[in-house]
Amino acid sequence: MLKLVERMLAGELPALARLITLVEREAPQTPEVMKEIHPYLGKAHVVGVTGPPGGGKSTLVDRLTQVARGQGLSVGIIAVDPTSPFSGGAVLGDRIRMQRHYLDPGVFIRSMATRGSRGGLPRGVRGVIKLLDAFGKDLILVETVGVGQTELDIVETADTVVVVLVPEAGDAVQTLKAGLMEIASIFVVNKADLPGADRLALEIESMLRLSPANFEWRPPVVVTQALNDIGVEEVYRAVEEHRQHLQASGELERRRLQQRREELWQ
Ligand code: GDP
Repeated sequence: MLKLVERMLAGELPALARLITLVEREAPQTPEVMKEIHPYLGKAHVVGVTGPPGGGKSTLVDRLTQVARGQGLSVGIIAVDPTSPFSGGAVLGDRIRMQRHYLDPGVFIRSMATRGSRGGLPRGVRGVIKLLDAFGKDLILVETVGVGQTELDIVETADTVVVVLVPEAGDAVQTLKAGLMEIASIFVVNKADLPGADRLALEIESMLRLSPANFEWRPPVVVTQALNDIGVEEVYRAVEEHRQHLQASGELERRRLQQRREELWQ
């Protein structure tokens, strides 16, 4: 086994950070690393948090992390920034987001830049998720701006997708057009301190009722004020319930199998 993988599995943070850098850059050792960590995968719950910019995703991720830490879970956060890797934006994002959990060894935060202008998750992101999983993270939060290709990617990458909307972002019809309706496991209507939140929540609920899809899981709509820490525990509970649903329905097992198949192909 590679020394670096051995040290990462033993819980050494610097080894994890170095492996992430390797995998992120798709270094030649990547397939070997993936093969070696394979027996240690499948424990983490991967939760995508997506939605328009400025909706409060970072704030919500921060608060969810706090709840998870309170439950004794260890957390990995991947913040996918729509910035070029050369602009330094991702690094800045890291610093801003890390403030609260900076000194907490149970939280690992990494920023990654989106691929190109049309969005889309960075190619290395799944490898990074696997490293965090193998490292022993219970909860992995992947924060993305919900545009274009990124939405499709997040559905394939995360077990649970939380879509964060805000009253000022326009009505629910626009949301449907944006394609966010189809990908959500859970809707969050954030900034409920602003007018229009309840109306937006009702609109989303009625659209879900009208949807032709026969949901095995009907996405709950949770109204929050992430900034004021209101409704966050409810979001956390909904995430847990969705995981239980995935487990009970066999969907989680199906997803893991699919991922294994993809790995084989690769
Ligand atoms: P992101 O771009 O989706 O990650 O959004 P951020 O988490 O960076 O939040 C954008 C802005 O909205 C920040 O100034 C937050 O402080 C603010 N914000 C977050 N949650 C709330 C909320 O519940 N109410 C209000 N009024 N502002 C919020």
